[in-house]
Amino acid sequence: MKKEERKLTAVEIPIGDIVEAETAVEFNTGSWRSERPVWNKEKCIHCLTCWISCPDSSVKIASDEKRITIVTGIDYDHCKGCGICARECPPKIKAITMEHEKK
Ligand code: SF4
Ligand code: SF4
Repeated sequence: MKKEERKLTAVEIPIGDIVEAETAVEFNTGSWRSERPVWNKEKCIHCLTCWISCPDSSVKIASDEKRITIVTGIDYDHCKGCGICARECPPKIKAITMEHEKK
């Protein structure tokens, strides 16, 4: 009979052991957000500062027809509403504003 696999808790991991990295891609980790960034497509100059700054990789990007990387929106399934993107967006542009999350 195959022994049932069980994930070790943090205190059970041997000192110096290497733990495989996990991912939150499959989980809706943005569900507890209290504020949401609202991206304004018309104002955005696609400098990608928000994309570089987002700690949750929640600023969505794509290549346009000229193969230039552009911002296309926010991944609300994973965005935590920290507001870093809005804070880092150039002050003269202000293409992202934070709004209260409507539940
Ligand atoms: S609010 Fe925070 S988590 Fe959400 S897109 Fe902006 S920087 Fe990323
Ligand atoms: S930082 Fe502001 S202007 Fe730059 S890509 Fe993001 S939303 Fe657009």
